[in-house]
Amino acid sequence: MKLTILGCYSATPRTLNNTTSQVLEINNHMFLIDCGEGTQVQLRKHKIKFNRIKHIFISHLHGDHFFGLIGLISTFRLLTREADLHIYGPKGIKEVTIMQLKLADSWTNYNLIFHELTSDSSELVFEDEKVEVFTIPLNHRVYTNGFLFKEKEGDRKLNIGAVEDANINVAYYRKLTQGFDVVNEAGKTIKNESVTKAGLKPKSYAFCSDTMYKEDIVPIIKNVDVLYHESTFLEKHAHLGPKTKHSTAKEAATIAKLADVGTLLLGHYSTRYDNLNAFKDEAQEVFDHVELCEDGKTFDF
Ligand SMILES: [Zn+2]
Ligand SMILES: [Zn+2]
Repeated sequence: MKLTILGCYSATPRTLNNTTSQVLEINNHMFLIDCGEGTQVQLRKHKIKFNRIKHIFISHLHGDHFFGLIGLISTFRLLTREADLHIYGPKGIKEVTIMQLKLADSWTNYNLIFHELTSDSSELVFEDEKVEVFTIPLNHRVYTNGFLFKEKEGDRKLNIGAVEDANINVAYYRKLTQGFDVVNEAGKTIKNESVTKAGLKPKSYAFCSDTMYKEDIVPIIKNVDVLYHESTFLEKHAHLGPKTKHSTAKEAATIAKLADVGTLLLGHYSTRYDNLNAFKDEAQEVFDHVELCEDGKTFDF
């Protein structure tokens, strides 16, 4: 997986800071996660091919997370896109988008397929042979979901020496990689584990923004390789958290620790802070593996 941070600040775009948007490359997919104002400029800057984006996941309908969407949809139209575009987001995202296209008399020449979300429980919203995407219900001022991106368990790997020694017909190799026991040329049942080994460990990424501290997401994101959790504030402004329904760096780190994740990425910083290192320092008092998101930064995992 490769994650590119297009923007990671809260509230408003500024000269050097963009609002929330990320691109996750996973098994040939190019998933766009949130689409703050200016996202298409960031996509161009980071040379991400527009036509590879087929699925856009929107956490909630605050402007810093989706004001770039109508611009991107419009640009796709001008580029004479033909491929379907799937948009996953809160109920209302279809209405607000269609209204703008209608008033501008600028209907797209490709299919826009909306998947509107209303559930307060985690649900599967996308699946193919290799990848699953689940919602992560969050607690914010408006209806909000994070998203959990998971690779499925991969094929097992053949231990070629053991397979040959066991006298198994090559026609059964596919069954072996799928995890089945098979019968060898002599009619004997061969246990799968005796001739195969586990494939690559599936990777997972959880995106959680915007939200106040919400401990009941922990079972959903347990053991993910990478967790992005918003940290709008430092503890010295913790009193603003419940009012604006955002988290502090310490709270993000506490969630990371409880969920026993591999790495915590921090972002959605309030623009009141000049020194981002303070976010990392504060989080590391609770959890070791912390990285700061910055616009344009990439993470491979
Ligand atoms: Zn926000
Ligand atoms: Zn918000």
